Amino acid sequence: MNGHGGGAREDGCKAGSRVGWLFLLCWLVVSCLMVGCRTVRHDEVFQNSTIDALLAGVFDGDLTCGELLQHGDFGIGTFDALDGEMILVDGRLRQVKADGRVYAPSHKVKTPFATVCHFRPDATFDMSGPMDFGAVGKAVDRVVPNLNVFCAIRIEGRFRMMRTRSVPRQQKPYPALPEVARVQPEFPMENVEGTIVGFRCPSFVKGVNVPGYHLHFLSADESRGGHILALELEAGRCSVDRLDRFCLRLPGTVTDFATTDLAKDRVKELESVER
Ligand SMILES: [Zn+2]
Repeated sequence: MNGHGGGAREDGCKAGSRVGWLFLLCWLVVSCLMVGCRTVRHDEVFQNSTIDALLAGVFDGDLTCGELLQHGDFGIGTFDALDGEMILVDGRLRQVKADGRVYAPSHKVKTPFATVCHFRPDATFDMSGPMDFGAVGKAVDRVVPNLNVFCAIRIEGRFRMMRTRSVPRQQKPYPALPEVARVQPEFPMENVEGTIVGFRCPSFVKGVNVPGYHLHFLSADESRGGHILALELEAGRCSVDRLDRFCLRLPGTVTDFATTDLAKDRVKELESVER
């Protein structure tokens, strides 16, 4: 009887430990799946909203910078109500406002338009000047000749000349972006060190992002920066990350986005705003 009872207890223990192991296995599988969901996706461009929506005046942010940072540690964009230029580098988020100063915005601030990636360079090379905006682009094109993929560009350099702009925070009803850009403050700099952060987008993104080069600048002392209008590089080190995945998030709950005519061709407007 005792022996039998002992056997039952042993069976019970075995059954208990089997349940324990099963539980541990399930927990491990679930944990792995959860970690998998949070895995950083390399070689992917993540973008919020479209450039044509921004050109049309859809300036209401709907994605927090905190959420944006889950999709990248590197990139460019703007902030809610078009409040300045965004520079994201090494996970550090910076905002160049229309007063020309650089701020570290709260991660609760929202963005109406941004392009980011998890920057992991495929190639790094030296650049020696003098090189203007066009020459910098051509140098990157030589290293990443496939113009039909995205390319993230980071240049640590010394610049004989750098001319940037920012955009002032807007009030509702929002004007279209070209109207804002007509009176944008510009920031000319001479002999400045800093980082260029930006992307080369394929021509087929017309209407969605900016085809070709779109670069922002942050000075090494983080006192100046903005959207680059012109530059003259003296010397620098350039890193490029080829990106062949594209994830587009749309501001589905923003009323202006829902009611704006995005069938219109805004290429001319984009040209007036970018350079
Ligand atoms: Zn820009």
